Amino acid sequence: MNGPAPKPWIMQIAPYVPGRSTTEDGRKVAKLSSNENPLGTSPRAREAFASAATSLERYPDAGAADLREALAAKHGLDPARIIYGNGSDEVLHLAAGAFAGPGDEVIYVNYGFAVYPIATRRTGATPVIAPDKDYATDVDAILAAVTDRTTMVFVANPNNPTGTYAPRSEIERLHAGLRDDILLVLDHAYAEYIDGADDDGAMALAERASNVLVTRTFSKMYGLAAERIGWGYGAAPLIEAMHRIRLPFSITIAGQSAAIAALGDTDFVANAAAHNAKWRTWFSDEIAKLGNAGLRAIPSQANFVLVVFEGDLTAETAYKGLMDAGYIVRWLPGQGLPHGLRITIGTEDETRGVIAALRTLAGAE
Ligand SMILES: *Cc1c(COP(=O)(O)O)cnc(C)c1O
Repeated sequence: MNGPAPKPWIMQIAPYVPGRSTTEDGRKVAKLSSNENPLGTSPRAREAFASAATSLERYPDAGAADLREALAAKHGLDPARIIYGNGSDEVLHLAAGAFAGPGDEVIYVNYGFAVYPIATRRTGATPVIAPDKDYATDVDAILAAVTDRTTMVFVANPNNPTGTYAPRSEIERLHAGLRDDILLVLDHAYAEYIDGADDDGAMALAERASNVLVTRTFSKMYGLAAERIGWGYGAAPLIEAMHRIRLPFSITIAGQSAAIAALGDTDFVANAAAHNAKWRTWFSDEIAKLGNAGLRAIPSQANFVLVVFEGDLTAETAYKGLMDAGYIVRWLPGQGLPHGLRITIGTEDETRGVIAALRTLAGAE
């Protein structure tokens, strides 16, 4: 007896591997493997979360009306065109579920976000990988990969795991080069970390174009990864299609309340952004000093830096050495990056500690 047969496209999925928080021998170490906020969560969000404990017997608002109103007010959007989900991961799955199926092709970049292949294959569609340009998004390569069968393109900007950023001119060129029956998903999980007034224009595109969905999350800058709140914005027909397959109660009361409170705490966000910008620059400069040992920091606009190892010290050895020194980072052989470590910008102590350990491993002292 063989039992029920899973769909063949499901068996082609390599399960998602989350960032680790303990070593093989169970030691607790600094977790710099999941791009979480080292400054924690807004105290206002924690308070709102705690208050939700008084209504555990109630279903959450399936329409997330208060959350949509708060997001619309903050970003100047139409609340009716906001979709939400259990993390932006769910929103990415909703997009693929509504706009890709067997026979269709879905494009994303080499070294793209690990959820795209899962969301794509789950629908029976075929993933198509566009080559990168020194780890960065290559708009020409994406446009060259488009065929009659293409129905979707995923681009994270900044990208994870590379941290690279495509400027507005490139995002506009990408959109202009796509047929309007191809859905362009612009994943803005790290939008809050982009330097200064730089804006890739994604939200403006989602506002006016019929085929652009922007996704955002409370998991990174807002420090609410535990509560799984993500959202997306696009043309009404896109949102309406995604609502048809959304789980009715995928975001909790506590999560909705905490997210609304977090949106209102602009000091927390400003502080976390300043912390990240300062230590990301310091970290990248320190890695540059290890250039003789073959270490290179890929320019990042996110809350992590991809370090590639092109000399005698391998990423695998550095990964193990950092673990011994008390830091878990992300080694990514499963994503075609056996020579790279993605390192989250942590607290000052953690950031200095990782650099000190890398200097030792590289033989710099
Ligand atoms: C972290 C991340 C997400 C989503 O996280 P959620 O916790 O599901 O909101 C989406 N896209 C990218 C590129 C990410 O790095």
